[in-house]
Amino acid sequence: MPPRKLHIKSYGCQMNVYDAQRMADALAPEGYVETASAEDADLVILNTCHIREKASEKVYSELGRLRAAKDQAARDGRGMSVVVAGCVAQAEGEEIIRRAPVVDVVVGPQSYHHLPELLARAKAAGRALETEFPVADKFGFLPQPSRQAIRARGISAFVTVQEGCDKFCTFCVVPYTRGAEVSRPVAKIAEDVQRLADNGVREITLIGQNVNAYHGEGPDGRPWPFGKLLYRLAEIPGIVRLRYSTSHPRDVEDSLIDAHRHLDALMPFVHLPVQSGSDRILAAMNRRHSASDYRRVIDRFRHARQDIAFSSDFIVGFPGETEEDFAATLALVGQIGYAAAYSFKYSPRPGTPAAELREAVSTADMDARLERLQKLIDSQQSAFNRTALGRTIDVLFERAGRKPGQIAGRTPYLQPAHVEASDAIIGQVLPVTVASLERYSLFGTLASIPASPAPLAPGEAQFQTTAGV
Ligand code: SF4
Repeated sequence: MPPRKLHIKSYGCQMNVYDAQRMADALAPEGYVETASAEDADLVILNTCHIREKASEKVYSELGRLRAAKDQAARDGRGMSVVVAGCVAQAEGEEIIRRAPVVDVVVGPQSYHHLPELLARAKAAGRALETEFPVADKFGFLPQPSRQAIRARGISAFVTVQEGCDKFCTFCVVPYTRGAEVSRPVAKIAEDVQRLADNGVREITLIGQNVNAYHGEGPDGRPWPFGKLLYRLAEIPGIVRLRYSTSHPRDVEDSLIDAHRHLDALMPFVHLPVQSGSDRILAAMNRRHSASDYRRVIDRFRHARQDIAFSSDFIVGFPGETEEDFAATLALVGQIGYAAAYSFKYSPRPGTPAAELREAVSTADMDARLERLQKLIDSQQSAFNRTALGRTIDVLFERAGRKPGQIAGRTPYLQPAHVEASDAIIGQVLPVTVASLERYSLFGTLASIPASPAPLAPGEAQFQTTAGV
């Protein structure tokens, strides 16, 4: 069978990047190989994201462009199939089938392993739609794993351990598009990680919409908490680094803190979104924790591991946010001291409770607040990166750098790091003495001494920053 060309266009979060790999892997046995261009592909998949503003309208305009490509393919005497996947597919499956005749298959994130059958069904019947959520039992266990494993593609790989969310933050579509929280069994995850390790992967990032709400079935038949899963995976030979994303402050159990205290493989860098520093806004967002609760969670981590660093997400201009609320966010950022953070202006997502709220913040106020917040975060990130200068830090080398002779890797804090060396070091963790810094990247030389111990002091305002709060 001659190879068939597959083009996947992915939008949105890390989960979608991972899902694109899963879809490519599910289709590889059918002879599909990935291509960079949609125009000459035999199969185009739009892997959509519902987080963006006017997400579905953007999908329809992309489908309009694909209709022209599909018509051209037909004139050239070859076929082209079009699949819509991802969260817009999940949320608006029937509507997409009705409005967009160019689409052959609509598939929700739980059904990507069925893609070959769905394409065959579409060929026989004209169209195919599959957006059902699998039904979990009373412990949240799925009757069968919803995720097939992905192929190793380098030194670092993502593995899904959990999907969906039960938190219902008022601004977020995830509980509606990805369904209730379900966790994969420990044995299946360990099998995937073992196989990836056997194929050269050294770093695993465990992913889930609410990853530390993990409660998958353990080998003893009981639900295991996330920390216990981390202990199991840290035993797998070849895996030298473990990470996870995205976690929720309410689900930080003692087992996770304990894992950070004891597991060398668990990287001391945690993405822990808070969204706002104002208790009033946190309540309106239905986050079900206060700013003080969040600070206490951070303290628990820092108590367990002194060199731990944090990143977060922030929404500015949530409906009703006053200057006072925003000042509380700046104060929280000032107190925590982030190594990195993502901040966005609020925009309503159709179907969410927050989209019904009236007291919109003006665009001018949102712009001004976002600029102030980003200035503070940038200042903290630069200060954090400067703490690396002159120090020796462990780097996991992943690939050739952009310049000849350069090899690139990541520090425990995900900072890109570069040295001049042979590519024989790819896949190894080696100490690097950092000599210079270019924006977010570190440059240095391989060191013969072990990496230096914890760079950061616990507690508030650990780095010198230049921006005021
Ligand atoms: S916890 Fe995260 S995924 Fe769940 S509703 Fe809130 S923002 Fe969305």
